[in-house]
Amino acid sequence: MKNKILIVEDEVNILELIKFNLEKNGYDVYGVHDGNLAQEAILKERPSLVILDLMLPNKDGLTILREIRETKEIKNTPVIILTARETEFDKVLGLDFGADDYLTKPFSIKELIARIKAILRRLKEVETESDNIIKLDDMEVYQDAFKVYKRGELLNLTLKEYELLLLLVKNKGKVLNRNYLLDTIWGYDYIGETRTVDVHIRHLRQKIEEDDTNPVYIETVRGVGYRFKDQR
Ligand code: CA
Repeated sequence: MKNKILIVEDEVNILELIKFNLEKNGYDVYGVHDGNLAQEAILKERPSLVILDLMLPNKDGLTILREIRETKEIKNTPVIILTARETEFDKVLGLDFGADDYLTKPFSIKELIARIKAILRRLKEVETESDNIIKLDDMEVYQDAFKVYKRGELLNLTLKEYELLLLLVKNKGKVLNRNYLLDTIWGYDYIGETRTVDVHIRHLRQKIEEDDTNPVYIETVRGVGYRFKDQR
């Protein structure tokens, strides 16, 4: 899907120039000329990013930016501020208005596009990262990365311990029996016993539990298997 960008700029020539170049770069672009129309347009179009000029008729850019940050549905929308003069730029920089970036006119379109790409890339990284992290009470399990952190510290888990933990965590609250764990982690053709599972659970507990003789995360369900308990 194309990223949608809203430009709030009263100078028609600049607006058209930005619009033309952004469309050429594959963005869906909308423009408004009047400060009073900005908020409404952002709520309606839900752009991935807003390019906001400071000097606008009826409502100035900083007021618009403040309103964006105070409006629940759109408060996280990235905003690039356009300023006309260095002095204005300094003023904006000196105050924390919550803009994601600033450009002083005249700016190069190439520079603007580079800034837009950087912001959207960062946004995407944050999104995919949070998709891949399972957050527990005091642990974070990074899927794909084979990493588990406990209170910010990386745990030294073997691959099997990691796989076992991930499987239990993904089935939080459910009892998984030993044979299922053995088959899933070690494979059907693995010649071993369910005792293998017990040994790995013991090692895992030593690494993740405060007191492995009194585990709070991995519960033993006698005669069946194990269950990961939700701490939240
Ligand atoms: Ca202006």
